[in-house]
Amino acid sequence: MSRLLVIGCGGVASVAIQKCCQNSEVFTDICIASRTKEKCDALKEKLEGKTSTKIETAKVDADNVDEVVELIKSYHPDAVLNVALPYQDLTIMDACLKAGVHYIDTANFEPENTDDPQWREIYEKRCKDLGFTAYFDYSWQWDYKERFEQAGLTALLGTGFDPGVTSVFSAYALKHYFDEIHTIDILDCNGGDHGYPFATNFNPEINLREVSANGSYWENGHWVETEPMEYKSKYNFPEVGEKDMYLLHHEEIESLAKNIPGVKRIRFFMTFGQSYLTHMKCLENVGMLSTSPIEFNGQEIVPIQFLKALLPDPASLGPRTVGKTNIGCIFTGVKDGKEKTIYIYNVCDHQECYKEVESQAISYTTGVPAMIGSMMLVTGQWRKPGVFNVEEFDPDPYMEALNKWGLPWVVCENPETVTVWKAE
Ligand code: NDP
Repeated sequence: MSRLLVIGCGGVASVAIQKCCQNSEVFTDICIASRTKEKCDALKEKLEGKTSTKIETAKVDADNVDEVVELIKSYHPDAVLNVALPYQDLTIMDACLKAGVHYIDTANFEPENTDDPQWREIYEKRCKDLGFTAYFDYSWQWDYKERFEQAGLTALLGTGFDPGVTSVFSAYALKHYFDEIHTIDILDCNGGDHGYPFATNFNPEINLREVSANGSYWENGHWVETEPMEYKSKYNFPEVGEKDMYLLHHEEIESLAKNIPGVKRIRFFMTFGQSYLTHMKCLENVGMLSTSPIEFNGQEIVPIQFLKALLPDPASLGPRTVGKTNIGCIFTGVKDGKEKTIYIYNVCDHQECYKEVESQAISYTTGVPAMIGSMMLVTGQWRKPGVFNVEEFDPDPYMEALNKWGLPWVVCENPETVTVWKAE
């Protein structure tokens, strides 16, 4: 029996909320709060009568700490699930500390305005010190550790699929299959087809910034940075088939490097089709991916936000997307003195997701783990004072919940491994 305040009502939130409502025994009460209250009301209307979870809605600007504090104090949740945007991570964490509730999210902080001089100064120092240039990193949220410890509260970071499930797969592999993990390759394959020449499967701003940034991987205790899409590979994904994939920087590399003792190399690969890459390069070349505001006809606009308004809403892709995703990790390491390799992955079918929650698999594979992470915390299975990434807790109850709530996983011994080359 618990009360959850969910902030955000987009693609991921919609799935997380529907899964909470399927799990009414745990989530007896939820409040859906977002910038656009009409979206929250529409989702509440869709769900009412089909769930015994009591749903309330509210309007909140999560960039405003006081507004979030006020909402928390009036609703009295046990925890806040942040499925708004990474821009709101710190303000929501501040509000949770002020109001005395636990915090959960699915993505690490990045600033909305990367030209902000105060942020930029810290960012540039970090680029030099750590050696990777992504706009997002965990330092901002890890910095809240002592404050959450002192308040006796838990902040659970990154309970989506990647980060999230891939991190839990790593903890599970270490607990049950290895004495020491030496390498982790995280493979994110979307074999879905939505029929558009170009669209992003989740928030375009977040997605395009991630994909157009430099790549990087972790090797022998430090970051190695690459040009965007510099390294390519091909992999024959179970239930999807052979796909091209590229090495990207990804946030869970940072936390896994810290939390998986003895790991020597961690890489992240994502599949992309040629049409997606050609469109993205063109948009980038003409400046449409820029986050710096420009003056247009007497109005200030941010190019990537304008582009977002032109692209199909990721939520609208659900009914048209066919095919499957396959996301998982290939681990190498040693057990009882012998070298071994295993692959843990989940396959998710876009159309099956749509039938269940009217959403495609990308939101589904993030929304389900957001519900599961929230369940781990509110039921007390994962709760201790401080700020934690998901791989720092016992993976077993989470892995069991993945099977139960729609993301079953497979462990494959001696899989094909990844060979990488320079893209042309
Ligand atoms: P959407 O853009 O679909 O939804 C974002 C929601 O947040 C919208 O409802 C939006 O409101 C709301 N919002 C934005 N700003 C504010 C604000 N200031 N105050 C209150 N609400 C606000 O994004 P997604 O659902 O695709 O993504 C949600 C989160 O999940 C993101 O942080 C994303 O990075 C993360 N994610 C994580 C993944 C993982 O595997 N770990 C994978 C995919 C996404 P409005 O409707 O008014 O715009």
